[in-house]
Amino acid sequence: MTVLVIGAGPAGLTTAIQLKSLKPDIDVCVVEKSADLGNHNLSGAVLEPEPLHTLLDIAAPGWRDTDVAKEVLANKIDKDDILFLLGKKLSFNIFFALKLAKIFKLGFGQMIHKGDYSVSVSKLTKWMGQIAKNVGAEVLTGFAAHNIVLDESSGKAIGVKLVDQGLDKEGNRQPNFTEGEIIRADFIVLAEGCDGLVTEKFVTEANLERQSPQLYSVGVKELIKVSPEQYKKFTSSRVVHAMGYPIWTPFVGPGMFGGGIVYAGVKDHLSVGMIVGADWKYCDFNPQDALTNFKNHRFVRQFIEGGTVVEAGAKMIPEGGYYAIPREPETGNIGKANVMILGDSAGFVNMLKIKGLHNAINSGIQAAKAIVQTFDNPESAASVYTELIEKSEIDREMKSARNFRQTVAKFGPLQGMPLSILGGLLPRFEIEKDYQATTTARYRLKPGKNFDKDTFTAVAATEHREEQPSHLTILDAEICRTKCTPFYNSPCITFCPAGVYETIHDDVKPANPSNCLHCKTCQRKCPFDNIRWTVPEGGGGPRYQRM
Ligand code: SF4
Ligand code: SF4
Repeated sequence: MTVLVIGAGPAGLTTAIQLKSLKPDIDVCVVEKSADLGNHNLSGAVLEPEPLHTLLDIAAPGWRDTDVAKEVLANKIDKDDILFLLGKKLSFNIFFALKLAKIFKLGFGQMIHKGDYSVSVSKLTKWMGQIAKNVGAEVLTGFAAHNIVLDESSGKAIGVKLVDQGLDKEGNRQPNFTEGEIIRADFIVLAEGCDGLVTEKFVTEANLERQSPQLYSVGVKELIKVSPEQYKKFTSSRVVHAMGYPIWTPFVGPGMFGGGIVYAGVKDHLSVGMIVGADWKYCDFNPQDALTNFKNHRFVRQFIEGGTVVEAGAKMIPEGGYYAIPREPETGNIGKANVMILGDSAGFVNMLKIKGLHNAINSGIQAAKAIVQTFDNPESAASVYTELIEKSEIDREMKSARNFRQTVAKFGPLQGMPLSILGGLLPRFEIEKDYQATTTARYRLKPGKNFDKDTFTAVAATEHREEQPSHLTILDAEICRTKCTPFYNSPCITFCPAGVYETIHDDVKPANPSNCLHCKTCQRKCPFDNIRWTVPEGGGGPRYQRM
């Protein structure tokens, strides 16, 4: 029996580690599109550690005493600030409100992070990948998956086709052409992260459905080397989450969901980021502009002024929650037959906690258990996996948070946040897709200077083989010319964090695909749903080391 895992992130690697611990003789192969482990993994990231501890206590006894564990889990949180920022200077710590919410068992009480860890998810992934290899799983980096191959008669998945390598820009075969092979497997685990290409193709082909559309947020983050004094002042065990300025000011706007983060990293490094719900309405908005404003706020500036950005990146986060989990309509299965969908690919992010890493790892544990239980009958794997998820903390959390982000999407932060306190008493609201929220309104807090996307992309260390077909397609150039540019001023040029889109001879084009950070914002935020992101050759993309 063979198991193929698509994606070497925390969810997929957990499946591999847990499986090899439970059933050492099973063949497990993990394929990952990035050149090296952790290169495409970026996150806040606050880690609730229990699922990871559960996994490693069985798979890697003694792990707590290893140097790598001490490094990855060096920053245990004991100072947890929630700020409301008003204008460029004022900040109010509203942590007491979360404490009250916790006492009264309101959803917002889940937002407390004390006892968790602020981690570099790329380092966590490198570490987990090494453990997976140590326990005998095959982990292959630099191999991008194209699609799941289904048996035409039964509809059962028989394997995964990899992306062809060695085509030129026009799609012609070059001397080094290698056709993407089909890797056959009895079980397929989809753990590609947010908006996974293979996952979304499978959702369509297998007729899986979401009750509500998936909502996304866009996160941009910088790792900044600061002075020892600044780091000491911030402290190594602190996380700051900030709402308000520069993306939300009650009544006068702007009115977007999300906020800024400042986390302690390794010695003398702070992570500073901005996460914005992709249902923003401003056609000229770029999360990097909000990040600039956030960094210039008096509270943040004191900790980073004079620092150097040593790494940067962008990604999307699936925020739609419980109603956006893709399921088989007849059975409710999260997957189908021998295919299971995990972690961010399934959308297991608890927006009340603003965390999903623990659920990703837990879903990997459940997938491994499901495979062991259905070893002689792979076609029931998705069904058993779903049963296990429904008995787990994942389901309890996702249900408890099910109305939060939906309500904010429906009514906006001002009315939606207080209304969401009613939690489970609220109905499921009909919401639109993120791109449908775009209007001709302008973001009124644009910084004076354009964000330096070239430097941002350079420190993300992104690269692709230049001589390959563009992995970004604008479906209808006429829409750009006649409907978008005249009214919305081509938002893709502004919001793409890597400056991939440009106007060339009056036409908008994905002119610099090799700069792409694989965040996929463009395919979810083009106001006319006019962009498609496909996976480039394996090995391309950002090379995050400490994000
Ligand atoms: Fe507008 Fe989308 Fe065309 Fe860009 S690709 S110009 S966002 S329609
Ligand atoms: Fe993200 Fe699209 Fe820009 Fe690539 S081209 S960095 S996927 S917005």
